[in-house]
Amino acid sequence: TDLAHIRNFCIIAHIDHGKSTLADRLLEFTGTVSKRELMQQTLDQMELEREKGITIKAQAVRMRYKALNGEEYELNLIDTPGHVDFTYEVSRSLAACEGALLVVDSTQGIEAQTLANLYLALEANLDLIPVINKIDLPSAEPERVRQEVEDVIGIPKEDCILASAKEGIGTQDILEAIIKNIPPPKGDLNAPLRALVFDSHYDAYKGVIAYLRVMDGSLKVNERIALIASESSAEILEAGYFHPKMTSVGELTTGEVGYIATGFKNVKDCRVGDTVTVPSALGTIQPLAGYEPAKPMVFAGIYPVDSNDYPELREALDRLKLNDAALFYEPETSNALGFGFRCGFLGLLHMEIIQERLEREYNLDILATAPSVAYHVTKMGGEVIEVDNPSEMPSFGEIEKIEEPTMDISIFTPSRYIGTIMDLVTTRRGIYKDLKYIEAERVLLTYTMPLAELIIDFYDQLKSRTQGYASLDYSFAGYLEADLVKLDILVNAFPVDALSLIMHKDNAYYQGRALVEKLQKLIPRQMFEVPIQAAIGSRVVARETVRAMRKDVLAKCYGGDISRKRKLLEKQKEGKKRMKMVGSVEIPQEAFMAILSLG
Ligand code: GDP
Ligand code: MG
Repeated sequence: TDLAHIRNFCIIAHIDHGKSTLADRLLEFTGTVSKRELMQQTLDQMELEREKGITIKAQAVRMRYKALNGEEYELNLIDTPGHVDFTYEVSRSLAACEGALLVVDSTQGIEAQTLANLYLALEANLDLIPVINKIDLPSAEPERVRQEVEDVIGIPKEDCILASAKEGIGTQDILEAIIKNIPPPKGDLNAPLRALVFDSHYDAYKGVIAYLRVMDGSLKVNERIALIASESSAEILEAGYFHPKMTSVGELTTGEVGYIATGFKNVKDCRVGDTVTVPSALGTIQPLAGYEPAKPMVFAGIYPVDSNDYPELREALDRLKLNDAALFYEPETSNALGFGFRCGFLGLLHMEIIQERLEREYNLDILATAPSVAYHVTKMGGEVIEVDNPSEMPSFGEIEKIEEPTMDISIFTPSRYIGTIMDLVTTRRGIYKDLKYIEAERVLLTYTMPLAELIIDFYDQLKSRTQGYASLDYSFAGYLEADLVKLDILVNAFPVDALSLIMHKDNAYYQGRALVEKLQKLIPRQMFEVPIQAAIGSRVVARETVRAMRKDVLAKCYGGDISRKRKLLEKQKEGKKRMKMVGSVEIPQEAFMAILSLG
C-alpha cells in the first residue's frame, strides 16, 4: 500500500474506559472480525488478561476500511498494555504510530492513566482524537467530560467524538477521523531497512515472532536481518500481518506494521525497542531512538513449597523468560526456605502475573518473600553496590549511606478524600508536591514517595480509603538518601534470612514488634525455651519467647487473620509436616508461609 493510504494508530485510555470494546467495534465495522468471533475478546488473548481485564501484551491488527471519500485504507491498530508497570512497552507501541484515540469514559472523566498515557502520546508526537465513550449509560455526562478534555488537555471540545463502544455509536465517525486527522506515515522506501520492534512473543514452531513497524526500506522473507541493540542476526522465516490471525504475505514495506518470524529461541535476542536492519547496513545507519533495556524494579525470592519441585520451578521460569525479556532470576538459597530463586520484576503487577502463571499454568505451589527494591549502598571508603536482597545488606558499620528508589505519584480523586489520602501518603513517607483542582469537586494530587512504600499494599489502601474513586499513576523519579536499617528476625539467636527486611528507621521498632509477636504464635513449643528477637545490627528492638513444651501445644496456633493466602494455606495441609531447622529449632514451613503472606 502507498503511504498516503496507511494509518497507524493506537487506543489509549484509563483502565475500564472501553479501549478493548472500542477495538472490537472497529474490527467488526471494518469486517475484520465477525460478531461471533468477537464473543471471545480478540485482542486480549491470555487467560490471565481476560480475567484481570487488562492487556499485558501489545498486539497489532490490520484492517481495511473503505472511507466515505471512496478510497480504501490500510489501518493498523496497535494495542497497548494497560498497566503502569509496562510503561516502556506502551511508549514503544506509541512510537510505532502516528496517532491515537484517547478514550475517556463519560461517566467518569479523566483519570490518572488517561493523563499518563496522554503524556506518553505527546512525547511520541502523536495526533490525538478524543473519544467520549459510554454515552449510552444513563449516568453519562458527555458535556461535562468534553469540557474537562478541553480544560485539562487543551483539545477543543467540539473535536471530541461522542461514542458508545458497546452500542456501536460513533464508530464510523471515529474511522473517518482516523483517515482525516491522523497523518500517513513518513519514511524512505529506498533507504536501508529500519524497523522498530514494539513487541515480541515466543512461538514453539516459528521461534520468536517480532512485531514491527517499518520506518524505512522494506523486508522480505528469506532475507537476513540484524538487530542493533541485541547484536543478534537471523533469517526472516515468515513476514506478514495480523488480520487478526497471522497472515503471511512475504513482505513489509515502509510505513507498514506487521510481524516477522525469526527462528530466535528467546525474546532476549529481539528486544522491544530494538532496531531491525540488514547486516550490510550495520555501523552506517542510525538506530531508532528510545531503546532501553528492561530494568527490574521489584524483587522477591520465589521458593517451591515442596523442595522436590525445585527443578520444575526452574524449568517454568526458563519457559516464562523465553517470552518475557523483563523477567530476571537467579538461584538463591535460604536457611528457612531452602533452594529457590531471586527474581526481579518491572513492578508489582508484573510480579503478581508471574506468580499466578507459575501457580496456574505450571501447577506449582510457590512461596514468595516480601517484595523488595534495589538500594544503592555506599560503603565506607566509597564503593557503591546495588542490594536488592535484604539478607545481603552489608552490616551497619560498613555503610556510609543508603539511597532508595523513589517514584513520582499522581492521584486523581474527588476532593472529599483529600484528607484521608494526605494521611495515607504521609505515613508512607510521601513528600507533597502539588494539589490541582481539575473541576470543582475533583483534584490531582502529586507526591514523591519511596518505591518500597508503594509496593506494600499502597494501591489497595488508596482504593479502600476512597471507596474505589481514586486513581493512581506513578513513574520512576530517582534515588534519594534515606535513613534505612535492616531488621533481622532471630529465632534462638539465629537470623532467619527470608524474614529480613529493609525499612525506615522510624518503622523498625513497630514492625519488629509485630513480626516477633506473629512468629511467637506460629512456632510450636520446643523442648527448650526459644527466644524470638527483632534486631537492628546487634541492637534488639523487640523480643518474645516461645516457652518450653507443656501439654497444651498447638491448640490455636494457626488461626488468626490470614486472608490473602488462605487458599494456598488450605492447600498446604501437608506442609505442616514439613519442618525447617533454624538455629536448632524446628519450625513448620507453614509458619513462614503465614508470616510471609500476612505482609
Ligand atoms: P478497557 O479496560 O479500557 O479495555 O475497557 P473494556 O473495553 O474492557 O471495557 C470495560 C467495561 O466497560 C466492560 O464491562 C465493557 O463492557 C464496558 N463498556 C465499554 N464501552 C462501553 C460503552 O460504550 N457503554 C457501556 N455501557 N459499557 C461499555
Ligand atoms: Mg482492555
